[in-house]
Amino acid sequence: SLRNKKILITGGAGFIGSHVVRLFVSKYPEYHVYNLDALTYAGNLENLKDVENSENYTFLKGDINDSEYINRLFHELQFDAVIHLAAESHVDRSISDPLAFVRTNVFGTMNLLNAAIEIWKDNLHEKLFYHISTDEVYGSLGEKGLFSEESSYDPNSPYSASKASSDHFVRAYGETYELPYIISNCSNNYGPNQFPEKLIPLFINNIVENKELPVYGDGKYTRDWLYVIDHANAIDLIFHKGSEKETYNIGGFNEWQNIDLIKLLCDVMDSKLNRPAGSCSKLISYVKDRPGHDKRYAIDASKVNNELGWKPSVTFEEGLSKTIDWYLSNKDWLNHVVSGDYQDYYKKQYSE
Ligand code: NAD
Repeated sequence: SLRNKKILITGGAGFIGSHVVRLFVSKYPEYHVYNLDALTYAGNLENLKDVENSENYTFLKGDINDSEYINRLFHELQFDAVIHLAAESHVDRSISDPLAFVRTNVFGTMNLLNAAIEIWKDNLHEKLFYHISTDEVYGSLGEKGLFSEESSYDPNSPYSASKASSDHFVRAYGETYELPYIISNCSNNYGPNQFPEKLIPLFINNIVENKELPVYGDGKYTRDWLYVIDHANAIDLIFHKGSEKETYNIGGFNEWQNIDLIKLLCDVMDSKLNRPAGSCSKLISYVKDRPGHDKRYAIDASKVNNELGWKPSVTFEEGLSKTIDWYLSNKDWLNHVVSGDYQDYYKKQYSE
């Protein structure tokens, strides 16, 4: 169908986006993938070095908050589909600067939606707007239970409130203007290319450098973890086989209390770094809790599993081991990110 030809992927220089771009560029040579990214602190084109010269790939440096630019792009390039990942994504940053999250996650999404209904209006029904979101929109769970696609929205952080808002607008544009859309809400991702402010890469890096491992509160926060490449595979499947106007929850069937995850990480790191058992756990240090911290997220991914046959391809132990190996053998990537050098690296090439 028409929608499979020119695909705009937003936020493709970020963590998850770069895996989605790589998958689509390599798996679908008949498509053309346009990666639109503002290259904020979280966007890093080094993530895409292996695909940047592909014939079916174009990088576009631009900001989804610039509505004129977005309209022009939709007009000139006549995309068939959008996979929207660009966002401010870090909860701690959303607590210190909530408006930045409203700007990109809400207004930025609105700009894409407005461009879609306006510029696609003559063949709207052949198009698709696929919005990537998080399970954090559902708020917090008690000890038992799982989030399903029917769970009500109950966001607690400025990050999750901004993502919830964007989900609502996508759905509303579907109902009000008949925009064909799909939304998927995924649990915590981990894997190669994740910015080292997030738990797993932060801790891998700290362990290598013998720095403290700051654990929030009592360490009993519970999260479901999914290997990023499994998320990218789910996005591929949902994009091609998912039904319009549907929501799909994506999760790893893999719940961990933070402290248990950190202990597992420590054991694996001690052995990979040839350090005596127990070296790493000495670095654990409990710090003041994050305000509004959700106790437990857990996702019921049975819909995407039953309807589309998706399931994670790796166990947590396998995914974690691959992730650690990647960080240990890509020290340049990490050094560039930590020092900010990666931003200068590409500045010349893509100066506006
Ligand atoms: P990320 O922070 O690594 O990447 C975000 C990307 O968006 C970066 O490349 C950044 O440069 C770009 N960007 C930010 N603001 C922009 C703007 N105004 N215009 C254009 N580009 C902009 O984030 P991520 O972890 O890869 O998450 C991607 C998406 O997936 C987000 O929508 C996030 O809410 C969602 N999500 C993330 C997780 C997770 O565990 N990381 C889980 C579920 C859903």
